[in-house]
Amino acid sequence: MISINLTKSKKPIPADETKLGFGRVFSDHMFVMQYDRGQGWHDARITPFAEISLSPAAMVLHYSQTIFEGLKAYRRADGGVQLFRPEENVKRLNLSAERLVIPQVPEDVALQGLKELVRIDKDWVPHSDGASLYLRPFVIAVDPFVGVRPADSYLFFIIASPSGAYYESGLNPVAIKVEEKYVRAVKGGMGYTKTGGNYAASLIGQDEAHKEGFSQVLWLDGVEHKYIEEVGAMNIFFKINGEVVTPELSGSILGGITRKSVIELLKTKGIPVSERRIAIDEIAAAYDSGTLEEVFGTGTAAVISPVGSLKYQDKTMDVGGGKIGEVSAMLYDTLTGIQYGRLADKLNWIVKVD
Ligand SMILES: *Cc1c(COP(=O)(O)O)cnc(C)c1O
Repeated sequence: MISINLTKSKKPIPADETKLGFGRVFSDHMFVMQYDRGQGWHDARITPFAEISLSPAAMVLHYSQTIFEGLKAYRRADGGVQLFRPEENVKRLNLSAERLVIPQVPEDVALQGLKELVRIDKDWVPHSDGASLYLRPFVIAVDPFVGVRPADSYLFFIIASPSGAYYESGLNPVAIKVEEKYVRAVKGGMGYTKTGGNYAASLIGQDEAHKEGFSQVLWLDGVEHKYIEEVGAMNIFFKINGEVVTPELSGSILGGITRKSVIELLKTKGIPVSERRIAIDEIAAAYDSGTLEEVFGTGTAAVISPVGSLKYQDKTMDVGGGKIGEVSAMLYDTLTGIQYGRLADKLNWIVKVD
């Protein structure tokens, strides 16, 4: 069903995996599928990775009707390659599609496309610890039309980018600024979807925070500027007095697959965890009373990102004395252990490709 056209000029695979960085190098092939109104999705294919041609009037360029996903292919010690919960990414892609009035992508074809692309470009999956082949599925509206309405034609792509270890020098806790001026999303908006517009809205806050020496911003709710939402491309967790808490999925934050996996793992380990509304004042009060034990972000790129300090108004809350917390470390080791095939996949999260 997926037609395959292999490249005749293979690119050299970067030999030094420590220099890969993130998202700059692309593998030999890509998956493409087309949608036209009246015809549905058609012509699923794997072709050589190449530039595409679009009309300058293509709708995505004007009104941002686009969605994306992000997941990784991991190399096991036995040389094989595997994916982590890819069906969750495909489901979430369609949740985003619904909100952006993009036609639902056939989930079996998307999943097959992911697996087939990774199989074909298997040699591009890095071998070093922490490195992986980052997979980026995305859909764009392509009709040449500058009026505002949902498009009639779309392209669905999957591209693959070998990426280095997120942490080159161990898991270093990051400094985060609580954003008080800008908001990323509001209830009723697109915050729960993976779409470019959410990121465009976040750039200015991120940029100002970088200039002030912070690595990321922690977004508060768009209405009261009071409740915690999430960090850049990560969900956020707090361990307060032995209990792990994370903001509930309220419509304005992204339902991370790492977030979901962390909650499931904590439950299997018997560590108390709850999803609820969390006020920034509650975190400040926990800090003052000495019960704010750990803070960490979760996302596909970093897996677990320990937060070493949180700045809110004039207060800088230092967490964990510059070290990764016990629960954060356990979650990182467990998740990466499952992803790279070092630990048994008891929860059935792994899809082997090879
Ligand atoms: C992708 C993303 C996350 C993390 O989701 P994962 O599925 O865990 O990678 C969190 N927040 C935002 C805004 C995101 O785009």
